[in-house]
Amino acid sequence: MEAGENCCVKVAVHVRPLIADEKLQGCKDCVTVVSGKPQVQIGAHSFTFDHVYGSTGSPSCNMFDDCVAPLVDGLFQGYNATVLAYGQTGSGKTYTMGTGFKEGFQTGGVIPQVMNVLFNKIGTFKHQTEFQLHVSFIEILKEEVRDLLDPSPMGKPETTNGHAGKMTSPVKPPIQIRETSSGVITLAGSTEVSVTTLKEMAACLEQGSLSRATGSTNMNNQSSRSHAIFTITLEQMCKAKNPNDSCLNDTMNDEYLCAKLHLVDLAGSERAKRTGSDGMRFKEGVHINRGLLALGNVISALGDEKKRKEGVHVPYRDSKLTRLLQDSLGGNSRTVMIACISPADINAEETLNTLKYANRAR
Ligand code: ADP
Ligand code: MG
Repeated sequence: MEAGENCCVKVAVHVRPLIADEKLQGCKDCVTVVSGKPQVQIGAHSFTFDHVYGSTGSPSCNMFDDCVAPLVDGLFQGYNATVLAYGQTGSGKTYTMGTGFKEGFQTGGVIPQVMNVLFNKIGTFKHQTEFQLHVSFIEILKEEVRDLLDPSPMGKPETTNGHAGKMTSPVKPPIQIRETSSGVITLAGSTEVSVTTLKEMAACLEQGSLSRATGSTNMNNQSSRSHAIFTITLEQMCKAKNPNDSCLNDTMNDEYLCAKLHLVDLAGSERAKRTGSDGMRFKEGVHINRGLLALGNVISALGDEKKRKEGVHVPYRDSKLTRLLQDSLGGNSRTVMIACISPADINAEETLNTLKYANRAR
């Protein structure tokens, strides 16, 4: 990808292996990755993407280098970026992003690898450039933003007039998505943690992941219905006094650069009817579909060169998710969508839906 290149939505498909549970159920593998091509087949359908990573075939360790590492490089040049993991619940979104801590710190996940590359690069250039890093971690559930790094978690029994144990509604005002006059999107009221080491950043990821997990009860797994967004903001100040000294590399001509990278573990894409039809769940389903629907519309509007040239309206305001990502989707920013799929035949219908959604994003 060239610096400043417009239209930057890349789509990769990640096919996870059959998991133990699927094998126990006697599931068959119904997804074929065409060897040597970024192409995937299911039944009579065939789709081509920017990249396809199968459980056999090309190893998924290339995925980071192909899809995500260029975005981290871009961050140092001042370009915002977004990585989105899309797919039905159980398709491997959390595993791919490395947003889960159920099975310990997943060093192979996208976020842990981003951290590695980021801190390596900072270490190399810290003599010429002063860096500042901030992290936020939020979740969008039912069109409401929840702060996963809030040091005083909601739902904790609060002390009222000295009497402990009374549950009250959170006193903190809701987090609001705002836009500055220069088009920068900010999250008013969310925790921004300043970090200087990889360890500190990893601690934020862990804390937020655990907060996300405890916010959901086991029966009503909200984490599959919410979008989790881990955001890294990188500020760079040139230390060089002599104009001939380079700050970071030849692309950093400015004295100050600020860019952010959103790493998004999206809500499960399965349709509401599969999760039950009682009122409450249906409402959640509807709201989640709103975010995913709006995202699909935004990405497809961005990907359509003809529409873009005609200045067609990009519907960012249709959901909290797209509103929050507005300054990091389209324009000069880079976006990668990783469509996660299960190879199991019982998931064939949802897998096909995921591939159709991802195909629309191209
Ligand atoms: P999602 O977040 O989409 O609901 P998960 O990431 O939780 O899905 O994955 C569902 C299950 O599949 C988990 O048990 C996870 O460990 C396993 N899994 C996902 N991706 C892979 C992979 N690439 N290799 C091995 N196991 C995987
Ligand atoms: Mg998950």
